[in-house]
Order: sequence, then C-alpha cells, then structure tokens
Amino acid sequence: MATVTQLSPAVREKYEPVIGLEVHVQLLTATKVFCGCSTQFGAPPNTNVCPVCLGLPGALPVLNRKAVEFAVLASEALNCQVRETSIFARKNYFYPDLPKGYQISQFDRPLAEHGWIEIPAPNGAAKRIGITRLHLEEDAGKSIHDGFPDSARNTLIDLNRTGVPLAEIVSEPDMHSPQEAFEYLTRLKEIILYTGVSDCNMEEGSLRCDANISVRLQGQEKFGTKAEIKNVNSFRFIRDALEYEIERQIEAIEAGERIQQETRLYNSAEGRTYSMRSKEQAHDYRYFPEPDLLPLVVDAKWQAEIRRNLPELPEARRSRMVAEYGITAQDAQVLTVSRMLADQFEEAAKAAKSPKRVANLVQGELMGRLKAKGLEIEQSPISMKGVAFSADLLEAKTISSKILKDLYDKAFENGEDFPAVYEREKPQQVTDSAAIERIVDEVIAANPKQLEQYRSGKTTLLGFFVGQVMKASKGQASPEMVNELLKKKLDSSK
Ligand SMILES: [Zn+2]
Repeated sequence: MATVTQLSPAVREKYEPVIGLEVHVQLLTATKVFCGCSTQFGAPPNTNVCPVCLGLPGALPVLNRKAVEFAVLASEALNCQVRETSIFARKNYFYPDLPKGYQISQFDRPLAEHGWIEIPAPNGAAKRIGITRLHLEEDAGKSIHDGFPDSARNTLIDLNRTGVPLAEIVSEPDMHSPQEAFEYLTRLKEIILYTGVSDCNMEEGSLRCDANISVRLQGQEKFGTKAEIKNVNSFRFIRDALEYEIERQIEAIEAGERIQQETRLYNSAEGRTYSMRSKEQAHDYRYFPEPDLLPLVVDAKWQAEIRRNLPELPEARRSRMVAEYGITAQDAQVLTVSRMLADQFEEAAKAAKSPKRVANLVQGELMGRLKAKGLEIEQSPISMKGVAFSADLLEAKTISSKILKDLYDKAFENGEDFPAVYEREKPQQVTDSAAIERIVDEVIAANPKQLEQYRSGKTTLLGFFVGQVMKASKGQASPEMVNELLKKKLDSSK
C-alpha cells in the first residue's frame, strides 16, 4: 500500500480527522420511483425506459407508493423522525446520463431527519453516530467508458437506471477514524438488509458511499477544509482511502499548504486518492420545489402502518439471543450476520436440546471449515437444521466429538447436509449386550465416588456414567442399551 510519506505518530496525533458519510441505497421496488418502468438490473441497455424517465417534454412523474414505504421503513430503522410533509425538489445540473437536466431529489424539507445508529467503541461501550437526514430521490443513468469497440473515442449511455429509487442517508460528521467509518457502514448495511428495503449489493451499485473527510488540530472547534472521496466500491477500500487522505491532508498542512475543497477518486490498486474536480457548492444546483409533484404527506396513521413492518433489528436481536440461548456476544454476532441465518439458527436452536451446543458447533466446527473453503455461512453444505441434529447426537452421547468431526469433514467433501451423511456413515452401533455390560461394569468399578453419590440420591449422575461408557466404547455402544443397563446396575443394590 502506498502512503504519502512516513508521517510520524507524533505529528499524526496532533490532528483529529472528521468524517461524514453519504450513502445511497437503491430501494428494492419492482418499478421506478416516478414511472412504471422495471428496475431490473442487467437488462439490455435502454430497454427499461419511457417518456417519464427519459425526460421527454410533457411527461409527468407519478410517485411510487412502495418507494415511499421503503424509505420510511429505513428511516424508522435508523431512529429518524419522519416529517409528515416533505417536498421534492429539482437539483439542476447537466450530465449526459441525466436526460432531464435535473434530478428529482429532496432538499430543505427531506423525508426524515435526526436519526442515529450505534457503533461499537473500543472500551466495549457503544458510540452513537448521528444521521442528519434520509431523503428520497431518483438515480441517474450510467455512462459507459470502456468494454466496447471504439471506447477510446466514445462513451455510451445506458438510461435503464434513470429514475430508480434511492434513499440517500447522510451522517453527521461524528466519525473520527477510518475504523469508525468502517463500523458505521457495516452497521448501516446490516440494518438496511434486515429491513429488506435494499439488497445493498455494492457490485451492482445498490449501495454507494461517498466520504467527506477533513482534519483539524486536536481541540480546535472549526472544521478543516474537506475533501470528498467518491465511488469507492468496498468498505475496506473506503477505510484505506480515508487512511491515505488523512495523511495527505496532514502532510499538506504541515508543509504550509492550503487544503482545496475538491472531489477525489480512490485508486485501490495504488492505494491513493486523486483530485477529480473542485467541488460544486450546494447553491450551484439551483434547487427549487418540483412543480410536477405534490408535497409528500406521510401522516401519523400511515407511519404507524409502516412501522408495524419493522423487524427486530440486529443489535436488539443479538442481545435477546444472548439472554435466551445462553450464547456469547461473539456467537450472536456470527449468527446474526444475515436475517435469514439468524432465523434459521433460532428455528434450529428452539428444536435442539441445547442451543448453546448448536452455537458452539457453528463457531467451533462450521466456521473454520467454511473459511477453509472460502464459503459464506449462507453457502454452507451443513444447514442450521443439520447442525442442530448433530448437536443433539452429541448431547445424547450417541456420537463422540471425534466422530462428529469426521462426519463434518465428509459433509464438506461431498457438499451434503449432516443428516444425510450421518444416515449413510453412522458408526456401527455395538448392540451386543454382553460387551456393553462389560464396559458398564468397568465404568462403575472405576468411579466409586460417583456411584456412592448416585446411590445416595444424586441420580443426575446417570448422565456422567452414560458419558463414560460411551467414551469407553468410542461412541459405538447403543445409547439406549447403555442407559438401560446402567440404570439397572446402578439402581440394583440401592
Ligand atoms: Zn420510465
């Protein structure tokens, strides 16, 4: 990774970075925000278009109700106050992929304001990052500069994306390190995914992030001059870009230069940012209320209706799962990585004898194997149901953990779920009662203290004896027979 210079820690610590993030998420409606065109990604260029989204004279926009509901749901999930009456505004600028010459957005009266999300702070506490606003707007088209013949001389325009609904989520400048920005984005994406209003697919552009970054001397109140970093396509790259930019700005200030307010692009291969253009000021857009749309009114009744669709959000869910299943915070973190996985885990955990054991197997046996194969947990050959099934076998001491490990390996080799592998490969059970009896006798003889406790009323020790017998038989004795024989022998001379 390239860095500007070797900035000494002493110099770096003189300054405080100030970071604010603007995130656009594409809302998962079937049709565009002001017309009935499909929003399908990957359709042939310029096929999902009509007079409205092409900006032809006389065409009038009609607001998509679903887009409003999704944006309100996201606002609620981000603890925003939804404004009863918000106003659409025209943001005027010329760009080849913006056929109307303006973008319909919201300006001084956005849909929602004053929200926050919490990110983990180093001391185990949570830090609250403010959300200034969430507003609804339409996307622009796409300019294609390469990947076709003659691309050195021409640019192609695909207008399928014009008019696709976006929620723009603007944070307060509350973040003071690239890591905090990374955490904010991770939490934000997780919350939006839980609400189901966007797929947040960064490769397809359903989640895009611009970062505003400035530095100031520690203790100074006034903000420094900021640079905006645009079009970075992964959270990790945003963190790296911010890291680079902080050093670049500090170095410039230390050298007596002035920071220019500008837009910069990040080159991930080189690990550095480049100046793209000096930043237009907000007033350059000549915002004015959109005359073709009525004010958007989301009254209390509609808001309440939408709020009813709010799912349990990740942070709350983690706390509940820790309390309900006796799992660790780290377990809960892994198991809530998606809403689907959390649902599957909870379903499996409820059915399993020991939810904690299910969580342990996910952490101890599943994650390592997934990592080795480069798979996400959603792609695991062993389902949550399969993990629960194996946990019960372990709990009942039907199989040893050694056998479980072997069966997990086989499941991953064959891409099969655990129950299928178990049915085929399950260890031959020893059902020879004489052989089992011999082991039972040995185990009882070897544990006189436990025997005495059992006989003086501590019958829960049966589990201990079962475990010892199963261990001695290398997990191959029939658990039913072991249970039966043990009971008979332990109880016989009571
Ligand atoms: Zn259209």
